Amino acid sequence: MAGEPQDDCLFCKIVARQIPATIVRETETTLAFRDINPQAPTHVLVVPKAHYKNAAELAEAAPALAADVLAETRAVADEEKLESYRTVFNTGSGAGQTVWHAHAHVLGGRGLEWPPG
Ligand code: AMP
Ligand code: ZN
Repeated sequence: MAGEPQDDCLFCKIVARQIPATIVRETETTLAFRDINPQAPTHVLVVPKAHYKNAAELAEAAPALAADVLAETRAVADEEKLESYRTVFNTGSGAGQTVWHAHAHVLGGRGLEWPPG
């Protein structure tokens, strides 16, 4: 069910500390940790602790939690001293989503082209 921890979900396991990650920030409702395959000098993922399959489901089912995630992307950028950065939610496999637990990518520390590929 949406919001409940999923046994087979990688990011639920990171939230539960069953799989290690380099955690950079934690709030009551969110966790931020470094991407294992960074695409920029700063590449941090911000996840809601509760399980929603992607940003679409999160926005629909838990808008206040979606706002917490967005606020945390700003806090991460601040801590990483990023003046410019990009916040990305890949939603659906056609957009590159590979982990089915909502997450924001925070990318920065290098020039970022627009539009993205
Ligand atoms: P997406 O393709 O938007 O679903 O993003 C999933 C991201 O999770 C990718 O950038 C992966 O590099 C990252 N990732 C996968 N496994 C781990 C892990 N164990 N710890 C941290 N990041 C991970
Ligand atoms: Zn999950």
